[in-house]
Amino acid sequence: MVTAKARAVDGPDKPFRVAEIKRRDLDLHDVLIEIKYAGICHSDIHTAHGEWGPVNYPLVPGHEIAGIVTDVGTEVSKYKVGDRVGVGCMVDSCGECENCRKGEEQYCLKGNIQTYGGVDKYGEPTQGGYSTHIVVQENFVLKIPDNIELDKAAPLLCAGITTYSPLNHWGAASGKKVAVVGMGGLGHMAVQIAHAMGAEVTVLSQTLKKKEDGLQLGADHYYATSEPQTFEKLAGCFDLIINTVSAKINLNAYLGLLNLDGTLVNVGAPAEPLSLNVFNLIGHRRSFAGSMIGGIRETQEMLNFCAQHGIVPKIEVISAEQIDEAYERVLASDVKYRFVIDTNTI
Ligand SMILES: [Zn+2]
Ligand SMILES: [Zn+2]
Repeated sequence: MVTAKARAVDGPDKPFRVAEIKRRDLDLHDVLIEIKYAGICHSDIHTAHGEWGPVNYPLVPGHEIAGIVTDVGTEVSKYKVGDRVGVGCMVDSCGECENCRKGEEQYCLKGNIQTYGGVDKYGEPTQGGYSTHIVVQENFVLKIPDNIELDKAAPLLCAGITTYSPLNHWGAASGKKVAVVGMGGLGHMAVQIAHAMGAEVTVLSQTLKKKEDGLQLGADHYYATSEPQTFEKLAGCFDLIINTVSAKINLNAYLGLLNLDGTLVNVGAPAEPLSLNVFNLIGHRRSFAGSMIGGIRETQEMLNFCAQHGIVPKIEVISAEQIDEAYERVLASDVKYRFVIDTNTI
């Protein structure tokens, strides 16, 4: 058993505090990771605040984890001590259902085991990356390519795969017009990945405040959604729209931007239902879809793709003392573009 230092919350309105958590003894296929960096994802905030259903407090969030292997179980074959590795949003799944067998563990029919806020197969609550160590079975550990620094690798494990997977699945490529709604942690990854896949990329952001960044990251066009003429000008324009915004948007206005057979994919998860006029779908055989992170194989593919194309998130490294402040800044959209905790400071 390893005692890890961590930062935990005790309730929806509580600040983070220092905590000690136990990480289980290594099972045959387990890997012990010394966490170096943990990204702060908007989901951490929703969960910590109890907005996505009941939470088993105390909670240690964090599912954008990068670190070094410090010990391995006796049957581990994929990793050795010293390897640079990552862990994303899930740490286990049944491994046997139809979806797991396809490598889509995120859609495990028995429910994947989330990195924090879940219950593992030993019946223990899972605790996430705002900590110094974690034990994860090797099939849910990712290899971080050598040319990606660990602090910048962390956000790829959620923000990276969450945008890579739908871009990949719906065929973002040369000759395709892709729009990215929202220029935040997810959006700024989607822009880079879609651009590297060869698509013509348009950012649809509330204002033009981050236009320079968007263009620099690979966007070809950048429009403000607060200007009504944007929706007239771009009507019927896109093959694929990735909506990264977790606030409520005017879905019907965005569907109007799709061309024949175009797809609008939600990766942001608004707490309230969205209203949809079906005429906006049937008129041009459009689709409205959702997508959740990606499977383990695809996550590794994403990391390799980012390494090959020099894609990394823009990050601000913070100390553990700054987590509460960082949460407030994320909620105020005051982050460029991802906070990453230096876990040395925990
Ligand atoms: Zn996340
Ligand atoms: Zn399964």
